[in-house]
Amino acid sequence: MYNHFLRLTTDVYAESKKSLRYKEWAKLLTGLKSEFEWLKEVNSQALQQTLKDLESAFVRFFKKLGGFPNFKNKSNRQSFTVPQHFSIDTNGFLRLPKMTPIKMVIHREILGTPKNVTISKTPSGKYYASIVAEQDLPHAPLNGDKIGLDLGLKEFAITSKGDKFENPRYFQKSLRRLKIRQRRLTRKASCSNNRNKARLVVAKIHEKVANQRQDYQHKISLKLVSENQRISAESLNIKGMVNNRKLAKQISDVSWGNFLTMLEYKGDIYGCEVHYVDRFFPSSNRCSNCGYIKQDLTLAIREWECPECKSFWDRDINAALNLMLFSESKIPLEEGKSTPDLLVARLGMNRDTGSGQEATGAA
Ligand SMILES: [Zn+2]
Repeated sequence: MYNHFLRLTTDVYAESKKSLRYKEWAKLLTGLKSEFEWLKEVNSQALQQTLKDLESAFVRFFKKLGGFPNFKNKSNRQSFTVPQHFSIDTNGFLRLPKMTPIKMVIHREILGTPKNVTISKTPSGKYYASIVAEQDLPHAPLNGDKIGLDLGLKEFAITSKGDKFENPRYFQKSLRRLKIRQRRLTRKASCSNNRNKARLVVAKIHEKVANQRQDYQHKISLKLVSENQRISAESLNIKGMVNNRKLAKQISDVSWGNFLTMLEYKGDIYGCEVHYVDRFFPSSNRCSNCGYIKQDLTLAIREWECPECKSFWDRDINAALNLMLFSESKIPLEEGKSTPDLLVARLGMNRDTGSGQEATGAA
């Protein structure tokens, strides 16, 4: 469905500059059903949902939030969504329209009212049913702490309280195994049974890495949002950083963006606000105690002593402390877009408040 209508839409546009949308697709779908009898064998709402997914892919593209919609590939993750008329029996059977009941292994109790279910098949051949349920959650009492959070590559995350979470580098660790398996895969004749088997092995390694990373990030994000009521993190220009080819692999391995998303939605549930600080703020080289700016702080210096107030800093903990301080001071609107200089001046980071010279270029 997805591929059919994506192809049709691009073809029609190329010919007549007319863009088809959900409304037109839905009408055409009715015609398709009389042409292809087997389309009637599946739940019609699931077919419509596929068209809605295609619609959102186009919307994302036009809003410049995503690339042009891609064709779905048989060997990638496959899924369909059933928006209504499904049920879960007490004995663990999932009932979907026009299908025989499916026995499920239930990982966790479903709380709230089930809204829809998505059946997916991973590239490694496992089937999952993800059930979206709606539930009113009382906000957790706001009695936690405030922290600054610095994200890095050496350590995955560092809090201003001094907690450090190692960067497990799951992808890096499986790289050797993956290379061997990948090489074996490319040697197999295309479309052969052995090729498919080799493809499954590679898919399983990727799946494992993704699961490990997901699990690790779930644990840390839950810990942070349940212990704190305010988290200040650096806003990351992730795409821009990935353009640096040397770092690209390491950065996609830590997957900060995914982690921040977890913090945000879990924060909503647990009553913890996530604040972002623009990334050009000089968070590393400012002494979070007295405001002294250390101009010669290179990446190699992990610890330093403030010549002014004699505080001894772990580089990352100091940066996390600064992030917290930055996000708590409100920038007056008239200052407009904040620049490092303005920020430096406003926060009085300059030892000699009269000049403002020293702070220039501190970012
Ligand atoms: Zn100091």
